[in-house]
Parts: sequence; structure tokens; C-alpha cells
Amino acid sequence: MRKKLVAGNWKMHGSRVMADALVGEIVENLPGGVEVVVFPPDVYLAGLSDRYGDRGLGFGAQDLSEHHALGAYTGEIAGEMLRDVGADWVLVGHSERRQYQRETDDLLAKKFDAARTAGLKPILCVGETLEEHEDGRAEEVIGHQIGVVIDCCGIESFRDAVIAYEPVWAIGTGLTATPEKAQKIHAAIRSQLAKKDANISLLTRVLYGGSVKPANAAELFAQPDVDGGLIGGASLVASDFLDICAAAR
Ligand code: PEP
Repeated sequence: MRKKLVAGNWKMHGSRVMADALVGEIVENLPGGVEVVVFPPDVYLAGLSDRYGDRGLGFGAQDLSEHHALGAYTGEIAGEMLRDVGADWVLVGHSERRQYQRETDDLLAKKFDAARTAGLKPILCVGETLEEHEDGRAEEVIGHQIGVVIDCCGIESFRDAVIAYEPVWAIGTGLTATPEKAQKIHAAIRSQLAKKDANISLLTRVLYGGSVKPANAAELFAQPDVDGGLIGGASLVASDFLDICAAAR
């Protein structure tokens, strides 16, 4: 009922030449039966979507401004600009932005709202730090991160949205949550949504992110509440990313 989704977050990597080669190889070999989206740095979005926008691959941005209207916000990129250059998706609240840009839950709720207003589908990233994990507070932390967005934007706003559970201790570390642990958190996220709206809870895709590789993807994606993955490092190597996409079919 929920189509699997694999999203590749390139972070601050790439060049025009690399971006073109990577996307070119992905679109040539896209497996069917799974939705695939890549999130290059904004500066490459227009060129990539102009060239490859009709090849079945989706494009998204890694962040957006919380301001709804265009205006005097130096350095910011509005959701409608991202739409204009071919993005349909946007990441909201990746842990690197929470950590390095000190993005708070309240700010992220505004970004989530701005994304939807601009017609972008947000992927809300949530996850606990190593310390929170060791204290046994993962579900509490994630519940709060999602709860702030529900309180601000309403449960209806999750209708086209996706949630990515990304334990911070697993991102870029080579450590992965076991499939059972991931499933437990994903089920908790789904039951949090169900308390507000059973239908939305059933429809909302919950991705797992954190050192997903070709070797562990199939096992993670086989869990009943894991609807695909948000892939960092492995999304920069076409063959690895395509193997992960194939594992989601
Ligand atoms: C990410 O940055 O969202 C991520 C999951 O990274 P990695 O796959 O490299 O752990």
C-alpha cells in the first residue's frame, strides 16, 4: 500500500561534472517499483532537472527558508524558488542542520509549513543523539520532534509528507540500527500519528537513515514499518545507490 521510497542526500558534495555523471548513471539504471529522489546541493538542481527531469527520478533540496514570501532575507532560498528549478521535495531538520546550524524544533515546524505552502513535499528528519540513545530516550526525543510539527501544522499536513528516522549516532559512522530496533522506532512513530489520524498513519512513509549500504538495505527495508531509506554516503556512488534502490523493490 505504501510505495517504497529511496532518497539520496548528497550533502555538500559534488561538482557540475560529477552531478551530471551520477544522475546520468542513475536514470539509465533506475529500477521499477520504487520511488527514487536525489537531493543535490541547490546550485545543481536547475541543470539536473532541466536535463533529467523527465526520466522518472525525483529531485529535492536539502533545506529551505522558513519565510513564506520572497523578501529581504540575504542568503535564503525560498520554497517557491526550489519549485521553480525543478524540486518537488525538501529535507527538513536533517541532524547536521540541527547540530551545525542550531535549527530548533520550532524553526523546523515553520520550515515544514513553508515547504507545504510552496507545494514541496517535506521529508521531516528526526532522530536521537548517542547520549539520548544510551539513556533510553530515543522514543521520547523523536516523539517530541514530531509532536512539535503536528502541533504547529496539524496532522493533515503529513498527508504528502514523509518522516525519516535517522539515529544521529548512525549517520556517517558505519553503525546502523538493527532492523528490529529500527522497526520498533518506526512502529512508535506510526502509532504517534495514529493517535491523531488512523488513515494518515497508514499512508505516511517512514524512512530509515543511518549508514544504509547495499549489504544491509534489504534487511532494513523488509521490516513492516520501514518504507525505504534516506541514504547519505552511499548515494554518491551510483552502483551502491542503485543496489540500495533495487533492495527496496
Ligand atoms: C544522512 O545523512 O541522511 C545519512 C543517512 O548519511 P549516511 O547514509 O552516510 O549515514
